[in-house]
Amino acid sequence: TAKIRTRFPPEPNGYLHIGHAKSICLNFGLARDYGGACHLRFDDTNPEKEEQEYVDAIVDAVRWLGFDWGRDEYFASDYFDFMYEAAQSLIGSGHAYVDSQSTEEMRASRGTLTEPGRNSPYRERSVEENLDLFRRMEAGEFADGAHVLRAKIDMASPNINLRDPALYRIKHATHHRAGDKWNVYPMYTFAHPIEDALERITHSICTLEFEDQRPFYDWLLERLAEDGLLARPLPQQIEFARLNLSYVVLSKRKLIQLVQERHVDGWDDPRLPTLVGARRRGYTPEGFRAFAERIGVSKADSWIDYGVLEECMRDDLNARAERRIAVLDPLKLVIDNYPEGQEEECLAPNHPQQPELGKRAMPFSKELWIEREDFTETPPKGYFRLFPGNSVRLRYGFVVKCTGCEKDPAGHVTAVHCEYFPDSKSGTPGADAYKVKGNIHWVSAKHAYRAEVRLYDRLFKAPNPGAGGRDYLEDLNPDSKTLITACLEPALKEARPEARFQFERHGYFVADRVDSKTGAPVFNRTVTLKDSWGKVEK
Ligand code: ATP
Ligand code: MG
Repeated sequence: TAKIRTRFPPEPNGYLHIGHAKSICLNFGLARDYGGACHLRFDDTNPEKEEQEYVDAIVDAVRWLGFDWGRDEYFASDYFDFMYEAAQSLIGSGHAYVDSQSTEEMRASRGTLTEPGRNSPYRERSVEENLDLFRRMEAGEFADGAHVLRAKIDMASPNINLRDPALYRIKHATHHRAGDKWNVYPMYTFAHPIEDALERITHSICTLEFEDQRPFYDWLLERLAEDGLLARPLPQQIEFARLNLSYVVLSKRKLIQLVQERHVDGWDDPRLPTLVGARRRGYTPEGFRAFAERIGVSKADSWIDYGVLEECMRDDLNARAERRIAVLDPLKLVIDNYPEGQEEECLAPNHPQQPELGKRAMPFSKELWIEREDFTETPPKGYFRLFPGNSVRLRYGFVVKCTGCEKDPAGHVTAVHCEYFPDSKSGTPGADAYKVKGNIHWVSAKHAYRAEVRLYDRLFKAPNPGAGGRDYLEDLNPDSKTLITACLEPALKEARPEARFQFERHGYFVADRVDSKTGAPVFNRTVTLKDSWGKVEK
């Protein structure tokens, strides 16, 4: 039996996004699960919009997702010679003709969903005349739009796609790979089935909007097989529902607008749904593959909540990311009875469920940074953190008792004071004698690594941006990016680009792969620990 062969066929005219990730995981996943092969094919039949920059970015993105296509990398433009032959063969067998109507005339004679179309006055041209005209189209004798090569099928077909669809148009354009060789270019609907057949694809998987194209797909391949140009068995087109994600726009036009009008900081902005953006955000290939499995494949169009993708990333990061301490909104804590100038180390586990990842030392000293929200003068009911008279454990360190605070003239708290219990250090024999309800994190002020941290959030604040006729730009979330300077535990200074961590109690963060310098990483928030948007919706 024939091996399964699938393909992922992007047009190199933009950056891949999360919707493409679904298609990539589906096609490469099927090939992997059934011992087949999946091709990476650049569908570059449209010379005006395609560029090498996009080809390179697509290669990177598919590799990053964890897939390998071996030598099966193809370009539709490599088949242009064959396609040109195939078109002449269709003319020869009476299945194609050159139409010389204007675009408007063609549109007018196509008919509607309820009315049949009308035959073109040029439909009965002889094979010789058609061949001559088509070759002269190719030779560059005519202006763009002067003639079109059309299939000769049925202008009365209830399926509009079978009303003599265009196969080739004149285009005096330079192609990113073929250069100026061609003055005619194949239509996507003509080119795609041929590409599949030449590569011996078994399952040509595409999104639902191509369902009505399937009869033409089959018609074309049958004709070319009859003409002896293609071998059987022929590929089968199979449709699935595209991914729609709440809070996200995936349309190429909108993504380009967001970048060009600088609503975001470029194609790899961590807030964009592009795969380069998701990568910078700290999303993982494993998380994307788990997401694709979880949402599955169906023929029914549906919306997936963005929270599902975030949950997949959390699950993956929770299992793999080492823990670190970061104070994002620093407030000074002074331990009045800790000796001036003294320092010691506290041991913190790198991963609570994976002791084999070991522990690291965190320096401890008289002055620490704690989160501003971990202190209050007037505790509400159920507040177990620092307030005058209360004791908490400094996570992986000592128990301290709050004695008061300092304020500036405006009444703002500028420092908190406490006393520590020298025999309460975590991991020492006496530590368990101290029973406290609060447990807060900290960083030694003297040793802290002050770094830029970007708190990213969803780019849109509405589940369906632009719904109800609004301009989708009105739904941009004004708080999607917040820049702060945080106090990080010193070990984070050595973080390599793309190293991922859980900052305890805060969420998952990644060392930015673009802006980090050796010994001076900056961090992006990938996702918070809990879903705060789920609540907003209800
Ligand atoms: P265009 O409007 O330019 O065709 P496109 O997003 O379809 O944009 P392609 O490069 O043609 O871009 O897409 C490559 C493959 O990715 C296609 O097979 C397409 O079916 C698939 N794909 C694109 N968007 C989605 C999506 N939202 N969900 C699932 N698959 C998608
Ligand atoms: Mg497409």
